[in-house]
Amino acid sequence: MLKIDNLHASINERAILKGLSLDVKPGEVHAIMGPNGAGKSTLGNLLSGRDGYEVTDGTVTFDGQDLLALEPEERAAAGVFLAFQYPVEIAGVNNTYFLRSALNAQRKARGEAELDSMQFLKLVREKLSVLHLDDRLLHRGVNEGFSGGEKKRNEIFQLAVLEPKLAILDETDSGLDIDALKHVADGVNALRSPDRAFIVITHYQRLLDYIKPDVVHVLADGRIVQSGGPELALQLEEKGYEWVKDRVAPEG
Ligand code: ADP
Ligand code: MG
Ligand code: MG
Repeated sequence: MLKIDNLHASINERAILKGLSLDVKPGEVHAIMGPNGAGKSTLGNLLSGRDGYEVTDGTVTFDGQDLLALEPEERAAAGVFLAFQYPVEIAGVNNTYFLRSALNAQRKARGEAELDSMQFLKLVREKLSVLHLDDRLLHRGVNEGFSGGEKKRNEIFQLAVLEPKLAILDETDSGLDIDALKHVADGVNALRSPDRAFIVITHYQRLLDYIKPDVVHVLADGRIVQSGGPELALQLEEKGYEWVKDRVAPEG
């Protein structure tokens, strides 16, 4: 589904990603862990098509397409979703309206019929019940005055409605208390499916107690320096990132 090969990318001519390779198959959940400043958010942002990043080498293929050649809207329509580390507030724009516009824009780009408000409402009700959310958040401005936990749950709700093939969650656990963390993890688990993949970026092991990854990668200094099963996350928790620092290969 997603194949990243030897990706090098810079921001303002400073190299951030330095030869990153990753292979994600449908249905898999990959966790990416790593110290602050390793390039985790850069990877997520770059995949979603946010500007400001210059790819200097390497390739990214998504469903057989050159992902890097697509505009951000085209990537979204192709099924790539990024939940931000810091969700933005869009004051005055109704959450439901925003989501319906986003969904219909994607459907249109895929040549599918747009949903009218009745059809959309039906979809929203289904998703709310899968995620055990109440509908109060729907009628407010996008993330407007939402608590940290509500913002993260809203991101998971967006994910549920947009039904991406690849969902990238960037530190969706940061700033959440344990109950909010469990809610978010339950939501993600409810949305796991054989044809949907997740990349879960997290600084801490805790989230992975609730979202069981198939593969855990350590990203340090712009490269994946180690990959393993869920036990790798536990080892990191115990030994810290210093333990993997020595493994960073010289820049190639
Ligand atoms: P992580 O998410 O792993 O903590 P980031 O991808 O956010 O790391 O950042 C990687 C490196 O890129 C850091 O050194 C950070 O300071 C730098 N960086 C990120 N965004 C920018 C930017 N807009 N301008 C300059 N440097 C940036
Ligand atoms: Mg960070
Ligand atoms: Mg980050």
